[in-house]
Amino acid sequence: MRWGLHPRGPGAAALAAARNLWVPPRLRCRPGWQGTTGRLLVRSVTGASNQLQSSNNGRYRDTVLLPQTSFPMKLLGQQQPDTELEIQQKCGFSELYSWQRERKAKTEFCLHDGPPYANGDPHVGHALNKVIILFIYVFDTERETAKKGTQAGGVGGRSRFLWSREPGVDLETGTCAHPLTPHKDSPLLPANHVTMTKGTGLVHTAPAHGMEDYSVASQHNLPTDCLVDEDGVFTDVAGPELQNKSVLEEGTDVVIKMLQASKHLLKEEKLVHSYPYDWRTKKPVVIRASKQWFVNITDIKATAKELLKKVKFIPGSALNAMVETMDRRPYWCISRQRVWGVPIPTSFYIFLVGGPDALEYAPGQDILDIWFDSGTSWSCVLPGTDQRADLYLEGKDQLGGWFQSSLLTSVAARKKAPFKTVVVHGFTLGEKGEKMSKSLGNVIDPDVVINGGQDPNKEPPYGADVLRWWVAESNVFTEVTISPSVLNAARDDISKLRNTLRFLLGNIAGFNPETDSVPVNDMYVIDQYMLHLLQDLANKITDAYKQYDFGKVVRLLRAFYTRELSSFYFSIIKDRLYCENADDPKRRSCQTALAETLDVVVRSVAPILPHLAEEVFQHIPYAKEPKSVFRTGWIRTSSIWKKPGLEEAIESTCAMRDSFLGSIPGKNAAEYKVTLVIEPGLLFEIIEMLQAEETSSTSQLNELMMASQTTLLSQEPRSTTTDVIERKGTFLINLEGGDIREESSYKVIVTPTTKEKCPRCWKYTAESPDALCPRCSEVVSGK
Ligand SMILES: [Zn+2]
Repeated sequence: MRWGLHPRGPGAAALAAARNLWVPPRLRCRPGWQGTTGRLLVRSVTGASNQLQSSNNGRYRDTVLLPQTSFPMKLLGQQQPDTELEIQQKCGFSELYSWQRERKAKTEFCLHDGPPYANGDPHVGHALNKVIILFIYVFDTERETAKKGTQAGGVGGRSRFLWSREPGVDLETGTCAHPLTPHKDSPLLPANHVTMTKGTGLVHTAPAHGMEDYSVASQHNLPTDCLVDEDGVFTDVAGPELQNKSVLEEGTDVVIKMLQASKHLLKEEKLVHSYPYDWRTKKPVVIRASKQWFVNITDIKATAKELLKKVKFIPGSALNAMVETMDRRPYWCISRQRVWGVPIPTSFYIFLVGGPDALEYAPGQDILDIWFDSGTSWSCVLPGTDQRADLYLEGKDQLGGWFQSSLLTSVAARKKAPFKTVVVHGFTLGEKGEKMSKSLGNVIDPDVVINGGQDPNKEPPYGADVLRWWVAESNVFTEVTISPSVLNAARDDISKLRNTLRFLLGNIAGFNPETDSVPVNDMYVIDQYMLHLLQDLANKITDAYKQYDFGKVVRLLRAFYTRELSSFYFSIIKDRLYCENADDPKRRSCQTALAETLDVVVRSVAPILPHLAEEVFQHIPYAKEPKSVFRTGWIRTSSIWKKPGLEEAIESTCAMRDSFLGSIPGKNAAEYKVTLVIEPGLLFEIIEMLQAEETSSTSQLNELMMASQTTLLSQEPRSTTTDVIERKGTFLINLEGGDIREESSYKVIVTPTTKEKCPRCWKYTAESPDALCPRCSEVVSGK
């Protein structure tokens, strides 16, 4: 930093803020250049700027144009959520949706939000889903009301006990006598699900009480009678001793007594084994066969797979996962037995009471599977004749759930998919990658993340923007971890971005784009180069949003504001911003680039950090009505900003600057003068655009070199003093997509400057210690 700073008095805070741009200003070296000094040298140029200046420095304090903005540097603790709430109210966030719909955009974007969760408070996993949805411009969202019910799971081990054990018997043709019912023989049958790795390899099969047993029985045309009714008690078919007894309680005791009485019980002992339990009542589940309604989906599946080829899946692998889950489903059971739900209308009046000759009919009591309800939501809520959503977005568990039931019903009814794009996200995990669950007690409440918990030291209020940034930067297509360290990192990222935006705001004070903007072609090369980078950034960010790749948006933005802006551009332009006349074209050129940069960055980040974007927008000195960034459209860049040739100019200069800095490690570059000797050719011509005269301390080239003065030569100087450092290098110019390629060699000659430090701008450009440099004396005398 080279401008005059004063440690006390009015403006000291602004000075400190300007200088403490969260990283010490560093000279950035661009990749892609070739030189002999190696790659990516990064050197601090703070040097002497940290020394406090003599008292005469204060004389010029009022003549420098330091950043001015009321935009706060930091929001601490509760200030974060409080400010967010204030912004939401002040800028009418809640009215944005209806405002957007009233505008009647020509093509509305339709996102069909998934069914809401019926059980429990929302946790951070729901926040993940909803935040992603909010990133996407939602023009037409209707919520449908299908609820996800809870289904008791039914998988687990089976009871095994010895039924017959006689060596030498050909088991496959053998039969077993029933221990209690005389003359009832049961066949011995082979089955793939029975192995020798557990027990004897012989299992009792109850066709009405398990999927595998049922399959074996139906394969061999065995009866699948069920002796247990819906209340879990034996029916009359089980015989008078067992009738009306609960199978899991006294029924078991009665069976044991009957076996004892018939002398068939060899041994009785209790053993622990795995068995399905209902998660809610914590009671064992009785699996029993029941009559249900099925949809044969063989034909539907074939059509669906064909139609899926035209659906875009993000990530692409989700398509295969969905087809696989579909293949595993031979038929779809659509009936359920519950008190509340949508009755299956086809079962009305076909349920016969009293056998085939009965005249009396009763309505069926079955209801539709809730997946059928939510799966048909497309027919109720999707607008237009097409009734097809641009986007369905849900967690990966829905590949076999809502995504699939929606697809199957839509294909069955009208032979088309209900969605054009399907975005699938992963689940949220704890810090060590562990699953979040109520029973583990590690469920994170998004409200606590935003507003803080009871102990603010343990659970600080992060605000909604931090939560949103975390969602955006996480790889939402796989698993997403959340923990204090992850949230703190997100908060740090935002605070760095905040400081970058504050620098931009502070330096456009007094700038009016309508009257003060400099035409692109008249701007400084480095400023034009920033616009070139800006249009490239804007295109990439827009693309990433279109691909729903919010992690990429974050990476692009973070690289831009840390590398291109804070470490590189900001460190170069401060002298022009602070020390030139307010309306000097050199300064206006820079402000034009800063204003465009602010606009692009704010709009780019708005979907992810709406509060920060809006807060910044409210502080733009020239912003006009409507006073909300969300009512002023998407990023605007101009194609005339695109100037690929400028990359060569800036990158080659940076390569030479790296040679220069590499030769004076740890020193303040401003205390040296540098001579660049470039052989005649393309590189020389490019660099000559940055400095017309042979030697200059005010040229664009010298600004980039950050030296006391820069001399540009096409051949070696005749005389050199002894106190010099020399570095050599080459740079490959690559223009017109490789059509023009030319390698030039250069030499960097470095000598300590004989000039003195200017008390106003701190550049080593003054003739004597107390005198202002020629530029500063001109500026000051003009005031
Ligand atoms: Zn000066």
